[in-house]
Amino acid sequence: MEAQLWHGLSAEEALDRLGSTKQGLSSDEAARRLERYGPNELRAADRVSAFQLLLAQLKNALILILIAATVLSAFLGHLVEAITILVIVLFAVVLGFIQEYRAERAIEALQRMAAPNATVLRDGEEVKIPARDLVPGDLVLIAAGDRCPADARLVTAVNLQIEEAVLTGESMPVEKVSTTLAATELPLGDRKNLVFAGTAATYGRGSGAVTATGMSTEFGRIAGMLATIETGRTSLQDALDRVGHVLARAAIVLILLIVGIGIFRGQPLLEMILFGIALAVAVVPEALPAVVTISLALGVQRMVKRNALVRRLPAVEGLGSVSVICSDKTGTLTRDEMTVRSIFVAGKTITVTGAGYEPTGTFSTEQGEPLAHGGEGQGGLAEMLEALLEAATLASDARLRPPAAEGDGKDLRGWRLHGDPTEGALVVVAAKLGVDRAALEARYPRTAETPFTAESRRMTTLHDAPGGGSLAFAKGAPEVILAASSHQLTRDGERPLEEADRRAVLESALAMARQALRVLAVARKSDTTLAAAEDGLTFLGLVGMFDPPRAEAAPAIRVCERAGILALMITGDHPATAEAVARELGILDGGRVVTGIELDEMEDEALERQVGEIKVYARVSPAHKLRVVSAWQRRGHYVAMTGDGVNDAPALKKADIGVAMGLTGTDVSREAAAMTLTDDNFASIVAAIEEGRRVFGNVKKYLMYLLSCNIGEIGLMVVASFAGLPLPLTTVQILYVNLATDGLPALALAVDPPDADLMSRPPRGRRSGLFSRPVVTLMLLGGVWATVVNSGLFAWVLAAGASEAKARTMVFTSIVLTEFFKAYSFRSERLSVAVRPFANKWLNLAIGWELVLLGFILYFPPMERVFGTLAMSQRELAVVAGVAATIVPVLEIGKWFLRRAERRREPAAGSAAPA
Ligand code: ADP
Ligand code: MG
Repeated sequence: MEAQLWHGLSAEEALDRLGSTKQGLSSDEAARRLERYGPNELRAADRVSAFQLLLAQLKNALILILIAATVLSAFLGHLVEAITILVIVLFAVVLGFIQEYRAERAIEALQRMAAPNATVLRDGEEVKIPARDLVPGDLVLIAAGDRCPADARLVTAVNLQIEEAVLTGESMPVEKVSTTLAATELPLGDRKNLVFAGTAATYGRGSGAVTATGMSTEFGRIAGMLATIETGRTSLQDALDRVGHVLARAAIVLILLIVGIGIFRGQPLLEMILFGIALAVAVVPEALPAVVTISLALGVQRMVKRNALVRRLPAVEGLGSVSVICSDKTGTLTRDEMTVRSIFVAGKTITVTGAGYEPTGTFSTEQGEPLAHGGEGQGGLAEMLEALLEAATLASDARLRPPAAEGDGKDLRGWRLHGDPTEGALVVVAAKLGVDRAALEARYPRTAETPFTAESRRMTTLHDAPGGGSLAFAKGAPEVILAASSHQLTRDGERPLEEADRRAVLESALAMARQALRVLAVARKSDTTLAAAEDGLTFLGLVGMFDPPRAEAAPAIRVCERAGILALMITGDHPATAEAVARELGILDGGRVVTGIELDEMEDEALERQVGEIKVYARVSPAHKLRVVSAWQRRGHYVAMTGDGVNDAPALKKADIGVAMGLTGTDVSREAAAMTLTDDNFASIVAAIEEGRRVFGNVKKYLMYLLSCNIGEIGLMVVASFAGLPLPLTTVQILYVNLATDGLPALALAVDPPDADLMSRPPRGRRSGLFSRPVVTLMLLGGVWATVVNSGLFAWVLAAGASEAKARTMVFTSIVLTEFFKAYSFRSERLSVAVRPFANKWLNLAIGWELVLLGFILYFPPMERVFGTLAMSQRELAVVAGVAATIVPVLEIGKWFLRRAERRREPAAGSAAPA
């Protein structure tokens, strides 16, 4: 659309110019416009091409030097050797490239999944579409917590407040309107009837006609691009970078030493230099960070399959440290499928039957009598019930949709709900009594409203009354509504609400809450304004609704218990409701229930002292969540916290792992969180933690293996040099040894299946890094043992009179086999290799393939020539295999001692002890 002063047009004019109506566009028209205007996205981040990645591999200085040296040596006549080296180096480059390419694409895929949605009217129906499919003219709906998906001229605005800091720098939300403004140039912040892409709704709701999408929006003009996923480096990657640098330096010093000694002893200069470079290429662990990235990316993919979408790569490894999960109750631990079971009206408790959103069910009194209009002895009870449920319906936004008729190709699954399930339950129970929402709303059109917030715990709506005048309806937490009520409706009309009446109502609310019901009170006030309806209400009754716990929640909580993770419940619901649900799920477990009011009275120090006993937080606001997170963090814990509302964002940011809801959460909460649950399910958090632990564990395995192999290789060279022996491996052999171990088996370890005890051990400490005591011990033990046996073998074979070529062949074979054995042993730093030894099929494949290659190198004459090997006799092969196999018992003994030491250090294993 060409530039317009959209704010100077009325909403109707704007819709007209945009070729749209208040019913939105038709889907055909939208499709045509999408063709014409292109997708609603900001210019995509520059994609790294495969070729660029390949070049990056070649930029590795060592590899370049090696290639140069090889070419040189080819000129000097070592043609076969030179070609072999080149082939091996190319293999290494390709392997490195594949690793990085996979990591890169995995992250791109994630980016697509995290793409935002928008709610629009298409063909007059409310639908959720990917925000990138928005086109000019679309009628987009905006609610508190949404990120505006495009620029739009507001058609309706109900208490709509928008925070426009991304555009204007102003952090105070702007009150928006739908009226027409002066048709003059106005600063962005003053165009109050427009909303802009990238800004966030903090309160209220509205709808607008899209005026600009993608790069044509105000945001698109100032911001080049917007990354939806932060790929910031993780501490694992940083740690490995550092390790890599230190090791590279150490290796280079040792290599200079080996080369120096060789030259000093009269070895040919050029050959020694080439050997030195090859050794450097082999032992400098340049692939370390790339493999971590792959492990992280694969972890992310597995998490997605288990319904956890990670937005920040560092969260993948952080998840493994989580020691406390603070979870919302409604929707996360429960299904958020509310059904009204119990109603308190005029001092009587009424039971309701029925399930789901289907509006059929019966009402009966405590005595089991069915309720009927003007029923005998019921003295107008039915009429009062009707007044209560009509008020509840009018004060709700949720809408009930009947099952689509057969044959129209739509959803046949039954009654569907649009909106908040709490309100849905009210609309459904009213419909069970025959209240027709549409007819009711026609009689009492809504003129204003104060929306529900987690802080106020109530919602108020103002309506025109049929006979003139106005009528307000309010619903919310019983204590809130009761405090705002001065009267009550009884069968004898309106009467003042006495102290005794209040107590009776609260008692009834408590009784419902104890049955795990969520309780709402409903009230009304006639001839009033929205502001005046804050108090002086007439209380109508209570409604108690049941929300079944998720079937997966209790088992997941038991997993947490075994894994040393504390699961806590945080809810805005009544403490008795929370307690009943917590008890059923096994969260309470002797702990305490604390309310927001009690939290307010507690100093931070007191909270920090007592936080260990508190299992359930009830009637809390988002601000309390922040304090709970801080208290646990100060005690050294790593905290995951869930949240869905706008105001949850600070707590989600403060938590080590903020967890947002994919189905019901707001855009703002999702952006603040490190992770989104695509099914809103508590069990998915636990699944993600398991994957996080697995990723960290596998990086450790990989690291132990790789470094231990390198120690063994360079150790052998150093020992041989100092002992005055010939070089134990040729240039080609050293490169090959490294490719064979650094490549496939190491990669296979990075995708190792989870350890058998992964979720039955406490989380690793907040600051415990990769180089834990077992890791360092086993790495050194394996490296030193390999050095000892392989150099011993070399010296012994030479002393026995074998040729240098034969001795080299035997050491080459022995070192490769040692490393294969190590690969299996290093699958766990604690458990014996005998525990499910062949569980990693990738490792089996990798080792199998490498063994075939080894066979060729040793026994296939052309390969023998290239690698400088000589065929070994069966006896010689047996000796070599026996020497290599000694690594297994040695590492087993090492693990046994480590396990014993661990048992001594932590006699009370399993307690959720922080770092
Ligand atoms: P949670 O999501 O933690 O269960 P909420 O903050 O949504 O808690 O709700 C807290 C209380 O506010 C509920 O117990 C109920 O009494 C009341 N409430 C919830 N939803 C609404 C609503 N849409 N309108 C009015 N009151 C509500
Ligand atoms: Mg809620």
